[in-house]
Amino acid sequence: MGRLDGKVAVVTGAARGQGETEAALFAGEGAHVVLTDVLVEEGQQAADRICAAGGEALFVKLDVSSPDEWNEVVRHTVQTYERLDILVNNAGIAVRGGVESTPVEEWDRCLDINAKGVFLGMKYAIPAMLQNGSGSVINISSTSGIVGYPGGTAYHASKGAVRIMTKAAAAEYAKRGVRVNSLHPGIIRTPMTDNMAEERTAGIIDRTPMGRKGTPMEIAYGALFLASDESSFVTGAELVIDGGMTAV
Ligand code: NDP
Repeated sequence: MGRLDGKVAVVTGAARGQGETEAALFAGEGAHVVLTDVLVEEGQQAADRICAAGGEALFVKLDVSSPDEWNEVVRHTVQTYERLDILVNNAGIAVRGGVESTPVEEWDRCLDINAKGVFLGMKYAIPAMLQNGSGSVINISSTSGIVGYPGGTAYHASKGAVRIMTKAAAAEYAKRGVRVNSLHPGIIRTPMTDNMAEERTAGIIDRTPMGRKGTPMEIAYGALFLASDESSFVTGAELVIDGGMTAV
């Protein structure tokens, strides 16, 4: 028995990093998984790997800031698997820059992908969940959605927006069976942080009591709990997985 047997999941930003790990873990627990990303070749390969391991998965190209592409992803998912139970709004970009040094275009790009992308995911996926009278949305925020540090104005703003829109949506859909929670990773070993300047990474690890980066699987297990019926009384919650970073 898998923890997600019979469920259908859409994961955004699933070509690599945390999204890919979540998609593979969910498929291993019995879900049918629709992987989506702007990286088409890598996304298709990630879906192929899941199928080769005996899971059920397919890839659909999705830029999360596009309403038309969201509409198509949800349509294709329901047409193929006849339902939609789980959405992981994982896709995101890291944008550096403080209040004065962030170009307006970068602010817009960051908010478009990290915040509007999450809003659009809920807007298009929740109606399909309501058809079954149940669903679980997991919005990937960050510790940056809880605390502020200098040099990441747009990123913090976008992740703070994810945190609070999650609570508003949780309250909106609580009586109709759709749960909405946010997940807040600390620093995690993925291509996103592999591309960061070494002294910046070292500074974040310094502020992390466990003194290391987390792994994508340590986040994926949290997402699995929120996706499964084991969390049936959990909505509007913030699941922090950060090696103690926000505890001090
Ligand atoms: P990665 O950069 O490794 O993976 C993110 C994926 O999302 C990439 O494949 C990326 O493609 C894709 N993507 C970017 N823009 C879009 C878009 N418009 N539409 C669809 N897909 C897109 O990052 P992580 O796995 O580390 O991050 C996953 C989530 O976790 C993000 O929301 C991130 O902000 C959050 N997070 C990450 C932390 C970390 O330390 N890694 C810490 C806290 C939160 P491309 O290469 O083209 O950008």
